[in-house]
Amino acid sequence: MITLETQQAIAQLRSVGVEAGGVLVVHTAFSKVAPLEGGPLGLISALRAAIGPTGTLVMPSMSDDDDHPFDAGTTPCLSMGVVADTFWRLPGVLRSDSPHAFAAIGPKAAEITAPHPLDVPHGLDSPIGRVYQMDGQVLLLGVGHDANTTLHLAENMAGVRYGRLKYLITLIRGQLTRLEYVEIDHCCENFRLLDQWLDAEGEQRHGIVGHGPARLARARAMVHTALVHLAEHETVFLHSPGLCSECDEARATLSAAAAGRTIASRVRPGPEAGVGSNDDGRRGDGSSS
Ligand SMILES: [Zn+2]
Repeated sequence: MITLETQQAIAQLRSVGVEAGGVLVVHTAFSKVAPLEGGPLGLISALRAAIGPTGTLVMPSMSDDDDHPFDAGTTPCLSMGVVADTFWRLPGVLRSDSPHAFAAIGPKAAEITAPHPLDVPHGLDSPIGRVYQMDGQVLLLGVGHDANTTLHLAENMAGVRYGRLKYLITLIRGQLTRLEYVEIDHCCENFRLLDQWLDAEGEQRHGIVGHGPARLARARAMVHTALVHLAEHETVFLHSPGLCSECDEARATLSAAAAGRTIASRVRPGPEAGVGSNDDGRRGDGSSS
């Protein structure tokens, strides 16, 4: 395959509908986009050029490691791909101080990467929730909606009762603390339903960027479409019982709720905790570095 030049990639991004001056979240698998002039850095340059100096570029930047405290200056983000793991390291890019971090550069970057709760990674008070409130766009480049974090925001807003038990190790007032929480999560494969829903409503644009398929829609369109379907069918994004261990695990919390058990919605201290039960679980207390 021929190596695409940066100028061609910029033209492709504009052609698929990336707005100058807007807020743009990008989820990408570079292997599907390559070869591109400059590699991952070339793609980041093209994205920045497409949104221009008044635009804000946002990428996932979460930790892959639940067993050690997150450090925004050193913790890698390997599972989100080489572009995301390159992006947060660049000069001028801000990264939120959370194992569920997002990174951003541009005029809205500080607002987007401000502190956010540990135990509700993708609610309205999170980087992805703030992008939604800013009427940002979401670009899926070489990946499908199963990689689209904004759909977890829709699940949070819908108040779905399913989730999976998660934990992380964090420093709270200098003490290593194990935090357990229930996160709205599952295998996410059925997020692919968004393709047909958004396409039917004319809310999604398709194109090619580099050599990879691109989908673009406003975060608001994604959330509002998902909310309509979640209101009709709470478990529309979960696999049918018995097909998928992650979706089964999420379903199990539904029956727990039906039995009257409260699903934890706040961080609660684990066995090693040295904090009071009223701790709000937020980072930014200066203890993490
Ligand atoms: Zn599943």
